Amino acid sequence: MQLTDLTWTRVQALSRDTPVVFPIAALEQHGRHMPLFTDSMLLGEIVRRTAEQLGERVLFAPLMWLGNSEHHLDFAGTLSAAPRTYLDLLNDLLENFIQHGFRRLVFINGHGGNDVPGRQAVFEVRQRHRQRGDLLLLFATYWMLGAKPPLADASLRQQQMGHACEWETSMMLRIAPQLVGDFKAAEPISMGNPFEPAARGWITKDRTAPGHIGEPHSATAEKGEALLRVFTDDLVRFLERVIGWNGKTWND
Ligand SMILES: [Zn+2]
Repeated sequence: MQLTDLTWTRVQALSRDTPVVFPIAALEQHGRHMPLFTDSMLLGEIVRRTAEQLGERVLFAPLMWLGNSEHHLDFAGTLSAAPRTYLDLLNDLLENFIQHGFRRLVFINGHGGNDVPGRQAVFEVRQRHRQRGDLLLLFATYWMLGAKPPLADASLRQQQMGHACEWETSMMLRIAPQLVGDFKAAEPISMGNPFEPAARGWITKDRTAPGHIGEPHSATAEKGEALLRVFTDDLVRFLERVIGWNGKTWND
């Protein structure tokens, strides 16, 4: 179900155990070969495929395209909500639906920079409603839901998500090839972080001049379809767990 298509009276009539999903993404530079809306288009496609499978069992809010992209602001065209602004925005989305009486609220994220404020938002809202025992507040990033794409498609070279990389470029070649530029000319740029597991403050231009991180030159539309399937399957399974939650326990 799409929130955009319902009347308020239909929302009012829904079971308050219906999971409400807020897809959150970004509008930010994606290298010299891909459009600024890449993250929003990719998450939108995964959510579209997922919603088709889940029908009336989950309510999807429209995708929030403005994300926390401060680290990309050295690249023209990027739009960003500053980290604290973004944290407030995510808090408000959750509070709106708590006000409407819903109990299972889920952020599905498609952009790395939203990870820290997204986790902080669900943490803060839970503390604010600490008397409640029936709230399920979740944050998940679509490529971190457990999928192991290299097992599904042995031709993939990258073992993890980069930026405007083999994985993202492949998925864009699958859904919007007319928007993908000369990805074959993009030099590989390593993920490189010798200080791991420490969290290191960075801006994107510390890591890459053209804007991508990873190996876009090895992208294909076939890899893109394999990736979209793996990520969609993972999201469907995850939301079925949210639907099946018994409403109170921590471990089940
Ligand atoms: Zn991206």
